Amino acid sequence: MSLSYCVLGSGSAGNATLLTLEHDDGRQRILIDCGFSPRQTALRLRSAGVDRDEITDVILTHLDQDHFYPSWVKPIERGSVRLHIHRRQQRRAAKIGLNFRHVELFDDDPWPLAGTATRIEPVPFAHDDLGTVGFVIDHHGTRLGFATDLGSVPSHLFERFVDLDALALESNYDRSMQIASNRPAFLKRRIMDGKGHLSNEEALRAARRIADQSCLSQLTLLHLSRQCNCPERVKRLWQDQAADLLPLLSITSQTKPSPEFRVSPTGSRPTRPATGNGVAAPSIAQPCLFG
Ligand SMILES: [Zn+2]
Repeated sequence: MSLSYCVLGSGSAGNATLLTLEHDDGRQRILIDCGFSPRQTALRLRSAGVDRDEITDVILTHLDQDHFYPSWVKPIERGSVRLHIHRRQQRRAAKIGLNFRHVELFDDDPWPLAGTATRIEPVPFAHDDLGTVGFVIDHHGTRLGFATDLGSVPSHLFERFVDLDALALESNYDRSMQIASNRPAFLKRRIMDGKGHLSNEEALRAARRIADQSCLSQLTLLHLSRQCNCPERVKRLWQDQAADLLPLLSITSQTKPSPEFRVSPTGSRPTRPATGNGVAAPSIAQPCLFG
C-alpha cells in the first residue's frame, strides 16, 4: 500500500504531478494539477509507463492556466476523470466552462478520495485573488506534503505539514536574479509581495522547519522560474545552508518528467515505526537559463 509520485513537469509553462496509490485491490493513478494539454500529458505519462486512461481523478491547487490547461474541459465533460477543486474557485471554474456534474468541490476540511482509505487534507494559501491550495496526501499513514504557488509561508502550514514522509515544495525564484531581471516592476511586485511565489531562501527555511518535525525520505523542489532561477544556484544554497538535507533533494524540470519517487513511512520518529528508507540522489535536470 505504497505511495509514489512523479513530477511530469513543473514551472510557469505547465504543472502536473502523477500520484500512484497502491491499494490492497489494485492501483490508482491521479494527477495533482493538469497544466499541460491532454496530449502533452499523455506523452509525459507514457514516458513514465502510464496510460492517460488510467487517470481517475485530478486534484487542483488552483485554476491558473499553468495548473489547469483549458482543453481538459472536454475529457472532464465526457466524465472520464473526476476533477476536484476548492469551493472558492467555483465561480472561476464556471467561467472557464466546467461542467459541475463531473466536478467535486472541497472545502478546507480533510476528505477521503472516493472509495479509498486515502485522505486529502487541503491547506489554503495566499496567491493572487483566489488563493491556492496545498495538500497533505495521507495514504495508509504514508504522508506527502505538496505545496506550490504560495505567496508566503503561513504559520498554519507548519501545523499541517507535520509527520511527513515526503515534501514537494515550490522554490520559484532567486531573489537577486528576480531583482536584476528586466521584468516590469509590477510583475516583480506581484511575484514577491507575499501573494505570488516563494523564493529559494523562503522555500529552504520552510523545508528546514518541516524536515525538523517530519522524517523525510524525499524532498522535491517545484516550479523553478526559468528566467529568474537556476538549479545550480539552488543546489549551492542547500549545500551552504542545509547540507544534511541535500541527499534527499530533487530539483524538477519544466521540460521532462522527474524519476518516480517511492515513499514509505521512514526513520526514527518516536510515534511511528520504521519500515524502509528510499533516498533519492540529488537530481539536477534543468539547464541554467538567464534569459
Ligand atoms: Zn503556477
